[in-house]
Amino acid sequence: MMSPQFTDVTILGSTGSIGQNTLDVIGRHPDRYAVYALTAHSNMQKLAEQAAQFHAKCVVVPHALAAQNFDLNWVNLSPKTKKPDVRVGPQALVETAADSSGRIVMAAIVGAAGLPAALAAAQAGKRVLLANKEALVAAGSFFMQAVCDNQAELLPIDSEHNAIFQCLPHLENKTNQSPDSPNNKGVTRIVLTASGGPFRQRSSDSLKHVTPDEACAHPNWSMGRKISVDSATMLNKGLEVIEAHWLFGMPADKIDVLIHPQSIVHSMVEYNDGSVLAQMGNPDMRTPIAYGLGFPDRIAAGVSPLNLACVGKLEFEAVDFVRYPCLELSFMALRSGQAACVALNAANEVAVESFLNHNLGYLNISHIVSEALDWQVGQGWSNPSCIEDVLTIDQLVRTFAKEVCQKTLKS
Ligand code: NDP
Repeated sequence: MMSPQFTDVTILGSTGSIGQNTLDVIGRHPDRYAVYALTAHSNMQKLAEQAAQFHAKCVVVPHALAAQNFDLNWVNLSPKTKKPDVRVGPQALVETAADSSGRIVMAAIVGAAGLPAALAAAQAGKRVLLANKEALVAAGSFFMQAVCDNQAELLPIDSEHNAIFQCLPHLENKTNQSPDSPNNKGVTRIVLTASGGPFRQRSSDSLKHVTPDEACAHPNWSMGRKISVDSATMLNKGLEVIEAHWLFGMPADKIDVLIHPQSIVHSMVEYNDGSVLAQMGNPDMRTPIAYGLGFPDRIAAGVSPLNLACVGKLEFEAVDFVRYPCLELSFMALRSGQAACVALNAANEVAVESFLNHNLGYLNISHIVSEALDWQVGQGWSNPSCIEDVLTIDQLVRTFAKEVCQKTLKS
């Protein structure tokens, strides 16, 4: 277990929603945390501002042009601090995640692009704060094996999984269980709550022409655009079901999803004596981030206290799988195996990007994912046995999904 001393932190994807929230929490504890490395993909201005404010030792950018852009922004800021070491390219990202500095790594890159670096952090035996759920969806078995083999600490940052983690018994080693582990200590079921997204009360017919901005207007959470669309389709909840399977060693039929529009109960664990433990709080990602940074201590997160009298009522309703076909497809992928999970994620990333670029209708997202899953079955792939297999399947499915998007566009 880590001692509660001054700890250096690497944030993969620092310019995103989770990255910024992580820096907000770190900024509240200057006596406890320092920033080692920050990484970004396109937003060099924000990266330079963050690096200057938090005295980062190094930054990682995707290519030489981005490095030049970072330098320009740094000069314009003219901070008093020394310029950080600027590292360039995907290999530098992986090496920085595994660097002997940066004892805690926040994995907050969006999409499967975050997998190699998050995995490298696990292989280096770090404390990994996992926000990048797509990494676990695409490579759950290898990821969990790497955590186990290298005595890494894996702390879930997704609010639902963080809630479950808090409600499970015997916190130590829990995230190292294999899915077949009998070590569930009387746990009979886990229940992931879901807000239902911005379109919960709209008819399916009315969704044909919704815009990306409408899909991203989540009623309770402020998040990056990709996960916001995933929340609207509930494919996000599907990814979370798969993530929960790997994190907590639960089979698909012991993972339930329950609509809870207020997003106050973040998830629940049911025990064989009839007890159900839930974790509650205002919907603010700084709570799970602070939990992951401070574990096993609790540290202040800047989150306003929960006032249940003001909330008034907490509502729950069953999920309508017809209304949310992406959730049904996710359960199918989980039951089908790892290759199907890779395909689900890759096709969804392609479809959501196409939707966000106004090239695909909202309702077509589930069609693309469904077609990709069917196509994947026809390929007869066995489940991937190494990370290279995962990346190969991922690329093949992306190519297929892009073709289907193109055809959909023309039709
Ligand atoms: P954002 O889109 O806000 O941020 C994504 C980050 O990843 C940015 O720093 C971005 O850099 C970087 N990035 C994007 N593409 C690449 C790439 N190809 N290679 C390297 N870096 C890249 O996403 P969120 O912060 O919302 O989400 C991050 C992850 O956390 C996702 O997996 C999401 O599912 C998960 N998550 C998010 C929650 C939330 O509340 N936001 C809640 C629970 C989980 P740049 O900005 O410079 O382009």
